[in-house]
Amino acid sequence: MPLDTAFSYRVPDGMEPAVGGRVLVPFRQQRMSGIVVDLHDRQPAVQTKNVVGVLDPAPVLDAQLMRLGKWISDYYLAPLGEVFRTMLPLSAEFKRTITYRITEHGQLALHLGGMSGSSARARRTPEDQLTEFRVLDYLANRVSGREQSLRSATRVSRAVLAGMVRKKWIVREDVSDAQDAARIVKIAVLVGANPPEEASTGDAPTPAEDVGRSASKKLNANQQILVETLAATGGRLAVETLQTLDVPRSTLSTLVKRGLIAIVEEPAEFHVSRVKARPSPFDFEFNAAQKQALQRIVEAVTARKFAGMLLHGVTGSGKTAVYLAGMRAVLEAGRSAILLVPEIGLTPAVAADLHQVFGEEVAILHSALSNQERAEQWHRIKRGDARMVVGTRSAVFAPVADLALIIVDEEQDSSYKQEETPRYHARDVAVMRAKMANAVVVLGSATPSLESYYNATKNKYALVELPDRVEQRPLPEVELIDMKQEFQETGQEQVISRKLAEEIRERLGRKEQVMILLNRRGYSPVALCRACGSRMECRNCAVAMTHHKKSSRMVCHYCGFEAPVPKKCGECGSEYVYFLGTGSEKLEELLHGMFPTARIGRLDRDTVRGKEDFERVLGALDAGELDLLVGTQMIAKGHDVHGVTLVGVVGADIALGLPDFRAAERTFQLLTQVAGRAGRGQTPGKVVLQTYFPDHYAVQYAANHDFAGFYEKELRFRSWMHYPPYSALANVLIRSDKLDEALEWSGTLGKWFEKTRHEGVRVLGPAAAPIVRLKRDYRYHFVLKSPSREKLNTVLRAMLTYAVGQKIPRTQVIVDVDALFLM
Ligand SMILES: [Zn+2]
Ligand SMILES: [Zn+2]
Repeated sequence: MPLDTAFSYRVPDGMEPAVGGRVLVPFRQQRMSGIVVDLHDRQPAVQTKNVVGVLDPAPVLDAQLMRLGKWISDYYLAPLGEVFRTMLPLSAEFKRTITYRITEHGQLALHLGGMSGSSARARRTPEDQLTEFRVLDYLANRVSGREQSLRSATRVSRAVLAGMVRKKWIVREDVSDAQDAARIVKIAVLVGANPPEEASTGDAPTPAEDVGRSASKKLNANQQILVETLAATGGRLAVETLQTLDVPRSTLSTLVKRGLIAIVEEPAEFHVSRVKARPSPFDFEFNAAQKQALQRIVEAVTARKFAGMLLHGVTGSGKTAVYLAGMRAVLEAGRSAILLVPEIGLTPAVAADLHQVFGEEVAILHSALSNQERAEQWHRIKRGDARMVVGTRSAVFAPVADLALIIVDEEQDSSYKQEETPRYHARDVAVMRAKMANAVVVLGSATPSLESYYNATKNKYALVELPDRVEQRPLPEVELIDMKQEFQETGQEQVISRKLAEEIRERLGRKEQVMILLNRRGYSPVALCRACGSRMECRNCAVAMTHHKKSSRMVCHYCGFEAPVPKKCGECGSEYVYFLGTGSEKLEELLHGMFPTARIGRLDRDTVRGKEDFERVLGALDAGELDLLVGTQMIAKGHDVHGVTLVGVVGADIALGLPDFRAAERTFQLLTQVAGRAGRGQTPGKVVLQTYFPDHYAVQYAANHDFAGFYEKELRFRSWMHYPPYSALANVLIRSDKLDEALEWSGTLGKWFEKTRHEGVRVLGPAAAPIVRLKRDYRYHFVLKSPSREKLNTVLRAMLTYAVGQKIPRTQVIVDVDALFLM
């Protein structure tokens, strides 16, 4: 719930909540869990309600993380409760995967007509029999079926399923039980288990009374059994044990929903002996620059004072080895370290490497973990079993003790920015956390963000450089192809220039490998009517639908909406619908046509569903099973394939046309990163960069591997335009699915900004957002800039207060401090 304030509750006698621990409290007819931020004796001005139950006897957020949470709430203007929820991966609901499998018995019943009533006791209606048949038929075609899908496909009731299990036609399997029960137990806590207070005089019933009342009035027989069992065992019992009672599982969840029972997760007693793997000796063969970088990290860590470092290393310079060696030094000193990696960087192979280096001391947190797995890792870290933490964005909140080092790999990567409330940037949170912990923060990158590089030049961070590739490998030569000239010379629009085609042919002939980047997925990005000129747009967004040929669909890449491929124009009915432009799917097809014998793979969000797919394709490339790999920016990110000697870039400058002040920076970074994939083995690499903007400085500097040159030019531009890092910037987005509302609200706020005139803060807008309609919402925005972050946040806070007063819902005014995208 988006609330900006903390609330006071009375702690009944006998209850001992802890600051940083969770409690259950009454809130607007419901019971909600909250984090205790303070315990005090001051008499509050308003009448308080009682805390209903204590969920954690000890803090789940220590003092440092509490402080960090408050800082985030303040800096990003995010409700503190939402911040805490983001920081804690302990979801209170319990989720498990129940699956069903058909047995041989069931197969027989299905095929030999065992369907007719064989048991005299169970008198089944013909309807039940039909349902049973549907269930068996459904399961017969599968290894197993999830309960949820099974039930929605066959509309079978739990009772009929239970009957079928008893007849041994099907087997019920509890997946989460099998895997995780040993590590985490879920405890059901009877809320209001404290002794009921006698006859209260006030209007508001005490919680205990409340429970008692609803218990006597509304509990059905099954619910009564659960509540009584819990009460009889002191109010706490493992969920697993409760489930052995002869009560449907839904009863427990109903009671949880009604707030009578809460589920908490606790580490199980360790009965599984876990042999500690010895950290395998990992040979880091360091060059001089790497040795120096490592030494500086270790010295800073030993000093036990805050220090920030920007590790700027060219692609292939061996940054990862430095990270791991730094972390190992921390581990040997008995302290903790966190390594943050971008979303795409955490593949199973990387995880395997980490296990090899750190053994059981490492916890790996990534987005593919289930809630249960995440909670399990969280508890391992909290207990101190894992002191090395590697993970994506939210791993910055890992509850390690004695934090010595935080490393942010590819610190410029946009996946560190959370694009929902709280809209924090994990890199900046990492810096703040290191400050609070007197720890060292290392930001690593081949293409540092302007902000970080600027901070380094202002001596906020020490600049540590790895200027050379390992083993003195040269950076690839880059050749620019002017596609406007190519068009003039060939008389037609080309996707692959003559030069690039020739270079590819040459590499294929030598059995070397090629990567081609086209940062746009799908077959064709635009469907256009030649008769009336209208383009096919998404129903929910003001963006063109992309044609996907293989799936034969039109897809919106912003909201996922799909539609059939149009045969006629939706506007005028003309049959002249043309598909324009090239996406990665079409590029792959083109290359197949040009090089029929080449083995071609493709890497984009259509071919990669999970991290395994990503790794499988890269693995195939590494093993020499592919000659050519086509892909979106996915192929540009930090992996190391030695056989690639040519990188072709096709339309990587699309972004230069976008109305976003970071477009040049992003293009420079993408081009540098993808060029860095070439020549990482023995043979030197080459890059052929096709562009319509050959003179653009982002393209020019990337081609010359000149980071410093780009940085200087871009900084000058940012300074003129008062953009970050010279100003703090916030994007304020007003959205509504009703156009009138969106316009009215942005008008109201626009007038307020005008009237209040805050000195030192520039307000641009209201203006239609570049994507004026997205996921059915109409969007208008303001961009606020100020050299003083304090002033900026003061204005934003006042604006939010005003918006609440004007009855503009808090969820429809999005404040994005340090916004990465203004689209
Ligand atoms: Zn038309
Ligand atoms: Zn859409």
